Amino acid sequence: CGIVGYIGDKNVFPILIKGLQRLEYRGYDSAGIAIYDHSLNVFKRQGKVSELEAFVADKNIEGHSGIGHTRWATHGEPNDTNAHPHQSMHGNFVLVHNGIIENYARLKKDLTNKGYTFQSETDTEVLANLIEYFYLMDEVTDAETAVRLALSKVVGAYGIVVICKSEKERMIAARKGSPLVIGIGQGEYFLASDASPIIEYTDSVIYLNDGDVAIVEKNSLTLKTVQNDPANFKVTKIDLSI
Ligand code: GLU
Repeated sequence: CGIVGYIGDKNVFPILIKGLQRLEYRGYDSAGIAIYDHSLNVFKRQGKVSELEAFVADKNIEGHSGIGHTRWATHGEPNDTNAHPHQSMHGNFVLVHNGIIENYARLKKDLTNKGYTFQSETDTEVLANLIEYFYLMDEVTDAETAVRLALSKVVGAYGIVVICKSEKERMIAARKGSPLVIGIGQGEYFLASDASPIIEYTDSVIYLNDGDVAIVEKNSLTLKTVQNDPANFKVTKIDLSI
C-alpha cells in the first residue's frame, strides 16, 4: 500500500517512520521496516505505525539506508508474518512491495519444486525468492540483473524497493502499475509510493515510468528498463496534487 526508502548519510530510522506516517492516509493493516547497519535488521508488526514504533523503541537502530512499508493485504491475512519487508529464503534479499503478483501461485509452485520454502502466505515473498533464485544462478553476478530477470517473469502490478545483503551501497526500485517516486537530495535519494514522505526533504523528483528499474546509490542514480535498455526519465518539481 505504501512504500518509503532512503539511502544517504542521515539517520534512516526517523525518515522511515515519518514517511510511513505520511502514508497512513492511504489505509493499511500492518507496517514494517528494514534498516541496513552492520547487518540488515527487519522489524514488522500488524497494526499501526505507532505500534511498530513502540515495538522498536527499546532497540538500538542505527543505519543510513533502509526501506519501510504499510501493507494493505491482498494475499494472506494481516498478521506479523505476512507484513513487509519480506526476506528471501537464504537471506540475500529484503524487499517491500505494493500491488499484486497475479501469477504468484505458479511461480510459488516452480520455486517449491526447486527447494524453496515460504514463511508467509504473500505473493510478495514469492517475488523475494524468485529474485534470489536468479541471483544464485552461476551466470548472474549482481542483484540488479536478478531483479530484472525476476520481474520479466512477473504478471501483475508492482512497486518494489529491494535491498541485497551483499550490495550494501545500493537499493533497487522498480514499478509497473503501482507508482514510485524518487526524491533527489544532496548525496542522498528518497523513494516512495507517493511524494508525501519526500516533500520535507526535496522538491526535485523523478516519477519512475512503468516497466523501469532504478539502481539507487548515495551519489548515483541509474535508470533502465526491465529488458536492460536505457530508460527515459524527467526530473520534475513535486506536483502536490498527486
Ligand atoms: N500483495 C501484497 C500483500 O498482500 C502487497 C499489498 C500492498 O500493496 O500493500 O502483501
